Amino acid sequence: MTERQHTTWGELLRDAVEKPGRVLEAYTAFHNYSLGNALLALEQCIRRNLQPGPLNTYRAWLGRKRQVRKGETGITLCMPMPFKSAHTDSVQEEPTESQPRYAFRFRAYWFVLAQTEGEETHIPPIPGFDTDTALRALNITRTPFDEMNGNIQGFANGREISVNPFAALPHKTTFHEIGHIVLGHTTSEKLVDSEQTAKHIREVEAESVALICCETLGLEGADFCRGYIQHWLKGEKEIPNSSAAQIFAAATSILKAGTPAAGSQ
Ligand SMILES: [Zn+2]
Repeated sequence: MTERQHTTWGELLRDAVEKPGRVLEAYTAFHNYSLGNALLALEQCIRRNLQPGPLNTYRAWLGRKRQVRKGETGITLCMPMPFKSAHTDSVQEEPTESQPRYAFRFRAYWFVLAQTEGEETHIPPIPGFDTDTALRALNITRTPFDEMNGNIQGFANGREISVNPFAALPHKTTFHEIGHIVLGHTTSEKLVDSEQTAKHIREVEAESVALICCETLGLEGADFCRGYIQHWLKGEKEIPNSSAAQIFAAATSILKAGTPAAGSQ
């Protein structure tokens, strides 16, 4: 197996947008992993006809008194790996060389429960999500809605969000505005969202975060996001892989922030 057999983040995002239920299925099976890795694992399980379920490394399964079956191939996930700078010839090198740097690499170190045998395994329940807990953990505050224009659904400014009390889908707009902040869109300007917001890549990114959060938590609104993003994707534009990776990372950090009991990998 060569390293380039993994799916790209852009492809995973397209799947998540086009296939209702995909994100929820990935989160349900692999909720203690990042959403990007959860979708990556699910895609491989489907392709290889494996039952999605608890995922561990070979060693971690041994620790749970289960053995990976002979001949099983690992599930590939993306993980940060420390690396040393190769540019040691440069005289301009920063003096902070001792700090390890990380690069994301794809490695096939994981196995799902269905690839193992041994003692019964305990499957932890999915922790509950709370929006106010997420806002506190992300250092985001709510500010009163003071826009006169009723078409405006909400806005994000710095680390403040505001949602129109008459917004069509307040929780979806809340995730969209949190998405703008976590994605780093609000560091320089106030973002105001009306029903006619320009179809800018930043809007697609924030709406993708809202879609993933709504669908993961089984909340209404994913269909609305899906329609909006699909409409945008139908044009000549493709969501770049770097955007897709940021969307998954932002949605993961929002979901983790609202479920403090959840572990993260
Ligand atoms: Zn927006």
